[in-house]
Amino acid sequence: MSIWNSANPQLRDLVAYEPGKPIDDVARELGLNPEEIIKLASNENPLGPSPKAVAAMREAVQSAHIYPDGGAYYLREAIAQKFGLQRANVILGNGSSEILEFTGHAFLQPGDNIIVARHSFTIYKLMAQLFGASTIEVPDPHFAHDLDAMVAAINPRTKIIFVNNPNNPTGTLLSQAEIDRFVARVPENIVIVFDEAYMEFLDEPVDTLKYVREGRPNVLVTRTFSKIQGLAGLRIGYGLAGAELAEVLQKTREPFNANSIAQAGALAGLLDEEHQRATRELNKEGRDYLQRCFASLGLKYVPSHANFILVKVGDGKALFNALQKRGVIIRDMCAYDLPEWIRVTIGTMEQNTRFIRELNLFITPPASQPVPKCH
Ligand SMILES: *Cc1c(COP(=O)(O)O)cnc(C)c1O
Repeated sequence: MSIWNSANPQLRDLVAYEPGKPIDDVARELGLNPEEIIKLASNENPLGPSPKAVAAMREAVQSAHIYPDGGAYYLREAIAQKFGLQRANVILGNGSSEILEFTGHAFLQPGDNIIVARHSFTIYKLMAQLFGASTIEVPDPHFAHDLDAMVAAINPRTKIIFVNNPNNPTGTLLSQAEIDRFVARVPENIVIVFDEAYMEFLDEPVDTLKYVREGRPNVLVTRTFSKIQGLAGLRIGYGLAGAELAEVLQKTREPFNANSIAQAGALAGLLDEEHQRATRELNKEGRDYLQRCFASLGLKYVPSHANFILVKVGDGKALFNALQKRGVIIRDMCAYDLPEWIRVTIGTMEQNTRFIRELNLFITPPASQPVPKCH
């Protein structure tokens, strides 16, 4: 008798999400000094958190014996104010990934489906599978979402469409005109999730919140404190939606899903515009540098609108292993079925130059290599 016989059948084939490799794991496995390892694998902020967020968290630790404010009054109020919305439009998650999961709890049943772009965040598909729903993957020419094709893929069991903008792992960006046309064409009974984890890296952000303000019932925008805010370890993100959709999602969450230290750090970080600006500037400098280097090395890359770059190196897994041995952690793209590519997070200039130095040791022009396997 296996307990698997009692478990939900869709769990059998569920492959767990594989995150970027932690520095300590690499140090332990390869006998390296953790201080000499750089991680450019998970799109984290190389400047760390805002000092104001750190101070607020220190303070909050003193009250760790008290349950958090489950309604997160101050943080939700501050987020609402920042975007010209009401508190009722704001929902918090244990990372924005948790909010993606709320949409599954709220809308998916076995036999339903979600629509995603072919090379987009793998969490959407894993989340759908958790609820016994299937995923329709729509081809993405030149690695950009084809929103017209995504609308055309809608069928009677479609419940949610995920639009990741800028998109991870490709770094591509959709225009305001494309998005407006898309929203107008999606029936209002289907939820549109705009996952905007990297929106703050844009100089001229696309506006999807206008749909929430205008009362469009089926638009959810998700943002996170993990990326530009440098608070990935805290696990906190937020969703913005019409009051009714927000209410539906609120029903699915645990009462204390956003912990008190995270609420305090996020609130202080949200208000620290200077830290976000400095991060954005550093990211632009690093992005220009890395893209110039790739071009001069003859490597094809996808021009990025985020804090990472997708670049074609030949055998991505082999390069991942070779760089890891030298203390540089990047991401191979096997999970995205792109064995010839890697994704590298933009770091400090010191980290970027080290990455390029190490990369130089290993690359041969992709054209001269056979197509690699993910091994
Ligand atoms: C990093 C990321 C998130 C945010 O994850 P958190 O759970 O908030 O840490 C969401 N979507 C995409 C596409 C991401 O890359």
